[in-house]
Amino acid sequence: MRIDLHTHSRASDGTDSPRELVHAATAAGLDVLAITDHDTSDGWAEATDAAHEVGLTLVRGMEISTRMASGLGLHLLAYLPDPTYPPLVEGLQRVLDGRDERVPAILDRLREHDVDLTEADVRRLAGGPAAVGRPHIADAMIAAGVVTDRNEAFRDWLGWGGRAFVGRYAAPLEPLMDAVHGAGGATVVAHPWGRHDHGPDGGAMGEAALAGLRDAGLTGIEVDHQDHSRVARETLRAIARNLDLVVTGSSDYHGTGKVDHELGCNTTDPDDYARLLERAASAAAASGRTTPEVVVA
Ligand code: AMP
Ligand code: FE
Ligand code: FE
Ligand code: ZN
Repeated sequence: MRIDLHTHSRASDGTDSPRELVHAATAAGLDVLAITDHDTSDGWAEATDAAHEVGLTLVRGMEISTRMASGLGLHLLAYLPDPTYPPLVEGLQRVLDGRDERVPAILDRLREHDVDLTEADVRRLAGGPAAVGRPHIADAMIAAGVVTDRNEAFRDWLGWGGRAFVGRYAAPLEPLMDAVHGAGGATVVAHPWGRHDHGPDGGAMGEAALAGLRDAGLTGIEVDHQDHSRVARETLRAIARNLDLVVTGSSDYHGTGKVDHELGCNTTDPDDYARLLERAASAAAASGRTTPEVVVA
């Protein structure tokens, strides 16, 4: 059984529609796919229809932009939460508002460097996603001939230290985790050692921090991810074993938006997947919320 638990569609910064994502997953030989767009459940309905069409098992999830008390950003994967649970809706709305507010701020910075893009251009090209992000601005820069790909846009302009870098709001981690669990969902830390140089023991995202998250109800760690070196994966796997956390693996597929993240390039062990679903089921039982069911092929 091939299981990929972290992928993006055009509801955020992927380049496939939710339907195309599901079809691509089937073509890639996956049996189980999770759709986890940034900060939104907008792609769920279309992906669910498509999963029924092609007979793929679909797990509805999202990847939420949060910040730890230390100030470090953390991408939190949330699986099977009730997307109508008010604390979750409110938490996500603040993140989406922060995304919206950042777009004109970045465009102002670009204009200082004589790169003149309008917000309307960016949004039209992106197709009006719920979660607008820097990759969409990158796409507008590509269309205008300023850069050749998203990677170059991040390196020279939009990434940290780039000429037009602007930060944005992220949800305080622990209240957001409570909101996901209260919504009957289960949580996994996405690529914990991928986005910054944490050092060989993870630094501020090391075993002690992960133990704290487990005590706050975290279910698992995304270990097998393209941003993790072999050594990082082995160290994280040992930490997960120590802390009795579930280990996941995924592609973090973004369509053509991210190179070297092909569907199924990393996968999750069926036993870990089963434990993740159990944790979501017990959160749902405890919350009494009507949470989305896994679409079973
Ligand atoms: P944002 O969500 O607007 O803060 O932008 C961050 C997103 O951009 C991440 O979720 C990644 O998917 C994407 N991203 C970051 N670096 C790159 C890169 N070098 N190439 C393509 N996409 C990237
Ligand atoms: Fe992304
Ligand atoms: Fe991420
Ligand atoms: Zn992602």
